[in-house]
This record gives sequence, structure tokens and C-alpha cells, in this order.
Amino acid sequence: MNIHHIRNATLVVEYAGKKFLIDPMLAEKGAYPPFPNAPREDQYNPLVDLPTTIESIIQGIDAVIVTHLHYDHWDEAAVKALPKNIKLFSQNEEDATEIRKAGFQNVEVLQEDTVFEGIQLIKTKGEHGRGEILKLAGLVCGIVFKHSSEQTLYVAGDTVWYDAVQEVINLHQPEVIVVNAGDNQFNQGGSLVMGKDDVYEVYRAAPNAKIIAVHMEAVNHWTLSKEELKSFANKKGMSDNVLVPNDGESYPF
Ligand SMILES: [Zn+2]
Repeated sequence: MNIHHIRNATLVVEYAGKKFLIDPMLAEKGAYPPFPNAPREDQYNPLVDLPTTIESIIQGIDAVIVTHLHYDHWDEAAVKALPKNIKLFSQNEEDATEIRKAGFQNVEVLQEDTVFEGIQLIKTKGEHGRGEILKLAGLVCGIVFKHSSEQTLYVAGDTVWYDAVQEVINLHQPEVIVVNAGDNQFNQGGSLVMGKDDVYEVYRAAPNAKIIAVHMEAVNHWTLSKEELKSFANKKGMSDNVLVPNDGESYPF
């Protein structure tokens, strides 16, 4: 497999000969208003440009996976750029309906036993925060990829560390895990995605896995920087396992 980190949660995953685009936010820098009541609320999103052209990102994509519809995962630029007949997976019927309304004709709701071109795509649970904020943040999912010719990949999505993440790791024993680790927050309500302690929990649950930390420094409400996570990983002795890519960086496994 090859994991190509584009920006924020946007990934191009080549897996068992197929190419997946996950959570495309394809707008140019500064296209959208900031998330309000949050750090840097004077800075428009995305905070940084794409590391490459939209054409090169969507070139040859076999399927798109949208874990939820927040605009840092599925945006107007993606709607505009993607062919309307492309295969698209969503987390539930509500999201599928919205995506179809935007003109996409080939939308399928992910299940725990979805198979695409011989690749198992297993929808996993996520919690986009803890406590009260969950009502506001809404539903999200992650995905486990499995194929006999590949190591198992777990893309956790916009979730904090909690027991369901532990269960996915126990059940599927992924060798590669992608976590959204910018510790994004509003001024109240706590972490919406993983922070450094959550990443440490993932490491403790899967000490032999490679953990790729993304969704960092790309939208205004981030609170954990790449540098801070790297030095925390050093301190905890997990820097061989925790990879913190720059935008545009790729890892083959
Ligand atoms: Zn997000």
C-alpha cells in the first residue's frame, strides 16, 4: 500500500491495486470562514494550500470515501472537481442523500462487510469529541482496509481515543493506523479529535503498528502542532512508530 497525505484529513490510499481518495477538502487556502468560537478565529480555512494540483490528486481515483460531511472532509471544491459518476462511499444514508443531492450518482453506504473490487472496507465507529460536544459534532466513521495481499490499514477518522478504537485495534490488528491528531477544539467542550495523549493510547494498544498522524495545522481550530507531537513521541519513546507527515508526503508499506 501507499499512503499519500495530501492535507488535513485528505489522503490518497493505494491499496491492493486500487486508488482511494479519503475525505477530500480540495479548496485553495483561505476559501472558507473560520470555525467560530475557536482558536485563530481570524484565519480563513484551509490555513495552507494543497501541496499539489487538484488534477493530480483525483487522477486515477477508483473510489472516494467520505467519513462525514464537515467541510474540512468534503467541500465544495471536491464536489466541483470529482466526476459525478465516481464510486463514493459514505457513513450513512443521511450523508449519502446529501452527496447525491450534489449530483453524485454512485453513492454507497459503508457497512461492516462492504467489499469493493475484492478489498474489504469495514466501517468503524468514531466519536467526534467527548460528552456534550458530541451532539454538536455529529456522527463520524472510520474504515479498516483488508486484503490478502496487503497489511491491514485502519483509518480512524475524526475520533478521539475511546473504547471502540481499542476494540477495532484488538479485533483487526492493523499494522498501519492513520489518526486525526490536531487536537482540534472550540473554546469550550474539549478535544474533537485526538490529541497527544490519545495518540499515546493508540500506540499502547498497537505498539508494533505504524501510526500516521494527520489533520494537523490545516484548519483554524487546531491546538496540537506537528513539532509538539514529534517531541512528545520522542519523550514517550514512540518516535519510530509515530509518523507525522508534511503535506504531500507519502509512505509505502
Ligand atoms: Zn475534521
